[in-house]
Amino acid sequence: MSARQAVNRRRFMSGMSTALGAIALRPATGLRALEIGPVPVPQQGRRSEQEYDAQAKLANNENPWGPSESVMEAMNHAFKYANRYGYPDGDIVAEIAAHHGVERGNILLGAGSGEILEMVGATFLAPGRQVVGVEPSYTQVYSHASGLDADAITLPLLPDYRQDIAAIIDATRRNYRSVGFVYLCNPNNPTGRIVTAAEVRQLLDGIPEDVPVLIDEAYHHYVEDPAYATSVPYVLEGRPVIIARTFSKIHGMAGMRLGYAIAMPALIGRMRPHGTGSVNALVKWGGVAALRDTGSQARVRSATLELRREATTALTGMGYDVIPSDANFFMVNVRRPVQPVIEEFRKRGVLVGRPFPPMLEHLRVSVGTAEEMSRFAAAFREILPVATASLRRSPGR
Ligand code: PLP
Repeated sequence: MSARQAVNRRRFMSGMSTALGAIALRPATGLRALEIGPVPVPQQGRRSEQEYDAQAKLANNENPWGPSESVMEAMNHAFKYANRYGYPDGDIVAEIAAHHGVERGNILLGAGSGEILEMVGATFLAPGRQVVGVEPSYTQVYSHASGLDADAITLPLLPDYRQDIAAIIDATRRNYRSVGFVYLCNPNNPTGRIVTAAEVRQLLDGIPEDVPVLIDEAYHHYVEDPAYATSVPYVLEGRPVIIARTFSKIHGMAGMRLGYAIAMPALIGRMRPHGTGSVNALVKWGGVAALRDTGSQARVRSATLELRREATTALTGMGYDVIPSDANFFMVNVRRPVQPVIEEFRKRGVLVGRPFPPMLEHLRVSVGTAEEMSRFAAAFREILPVATASLRRSPGR
């Protein structure tokens, strides 16, 4: 069992019991992982290419169309540097900075935004320190905290699955001395719900001004709700806000690994030593082309939103509740334990999201190609009955 699997498993177990009322405080003890027993080993590495290619991949919120032509061309061009250490990199940092209207010193590259999230953890957490955020959210932040022997104060979502900003403020203020940073995933993964611009301001104004806030905008490009806004301007205001962005979603480059942080130079300087510097030559050139290719971004966005609308309309038509999403995925309440449902999809060659405790009757579905979404719809009709009023769960159950 890998350390990460052990941590995730431990987090799942510890999530069963909540300390401090609704708040779950997760201690991370390396030894306890040994008591938990075996967990399934992911099969990904062993899957054959043929098997992988044949599956409908709706499990990881990827962009199913991949990089655009202009990005492929730029990466092909950069192959001539594949044998070099120091090489022209297309000025990717300057390109990102110009894109956001900030300085080069505000930008830090990572091999995916996942590396940025881990750099934030490594910078601001230590044994006994805490990250504050909601659950469910993007688990990598909390599992990395556990790996650092830090804690996660995880707060439940509101009944409409939005993030409880008042509770985040309250928990941060009450634990001020030990809070390393606040994590806000906007839109949130796995729910797809946004935190409004007004709520972000409420949060930043409500917590002590020196507490760093990591705002993960991985799904920024898919948002339709006019109440949302990027939090990049807070960096220019001089707030201790770190924005994480990725090339894995709208730009379709998850396998190439590129993400970045936008923050005050002082924070970037503290984070930089925790990076690996492992961003490759191809993706740097590809990233420059991707930022410039606004036409492709618009096409990916509109196709994704259209396919999401079709799928969610069909599901609600069958009587299932879908959480309104502003991302390239959505959650549907299947009103039964989701794990066996996931397994049924897998048997039909359709990979869907894993369970997200405590939302164990919700299925997360990433938006794939039209063909993948048809396969999802057909499998859904086979696995789950039309939900008539009599099938609906009574409030008392
Ligand atoms: N943040 C969120 C909210 C995500 O959902 C993901 C990946 O799915 C990431 C960050 C990490 O993405 P990457 O490391 O590919 O940039």
